[in-house]
Amino acid sequence: MIGCGCKICKADLGEFTNELILSGESPKSVLAELEKEGLTVSKKLLKKHLAAFEIDYPHENSNSDQICEPVTIELNDIDFSQYDFDINQVESIIAYLQKLNLKVYLNQLQITLQAQQNVIDGKAPGVPSEVFKNLAIACEILEKSTGMRVMVNQQQAIKTVEAMGLTIQNQALLPPKNVQANSDTETN
Ligand SMILES: [Zn+2]
Repeated sequence: MIGCGCKICKADLGEFTNELILSGESPKSVLAELEKEGLTVSKKLLKKHLAAFEIDYPHENSNSDQICEPVTIELNDIDFSQYDFDINQVESIIAYLQKLNLKVYLNQLQITLQAQQNVIDGKAPGVPSEVFKNLAIACEILEKSTGMRVMVNQQQAIKTVEAMGLTIQNQALLPPKNVQANSDTETN
């Protein structure tokens, strides 16, 4: 038996392969070298061959041509003109982000509804759990950026208080200007 008895060793390329790996070549380039020698080998076989010689199989990303460069973002270089907000107005930025987050949520809602429809139509056995998980995450993002829940609870509380015949004195509790009050037909 030559070497470990694998396809590489049988082709008498065992030593050649070991030397390449030990000199720091990536598995990918070793396989390419073997290909040049007329030998097509899978990664799995290469792994097995190296294991027989007690040579560690190199990590896929450890070869020198795949060094990660740090990403640097210069905030001053961002082109804000493509966004629909006034960078000098915090409220405008927040409103824009709230709108975007609402869009993310509505898109995810569409995906969820589609997944449910697929079940209703008999095209799928069930809604994948990631779909609901993603919807919950999107809802949380929206809630965090809008304070939606607090607003809803507060408005509900105000309605309850008003239904009891009491009036809200504190202006801060009334809906913000951008929220359409559903009953602003008070006596003028
Ligand atoms: Zn071998």
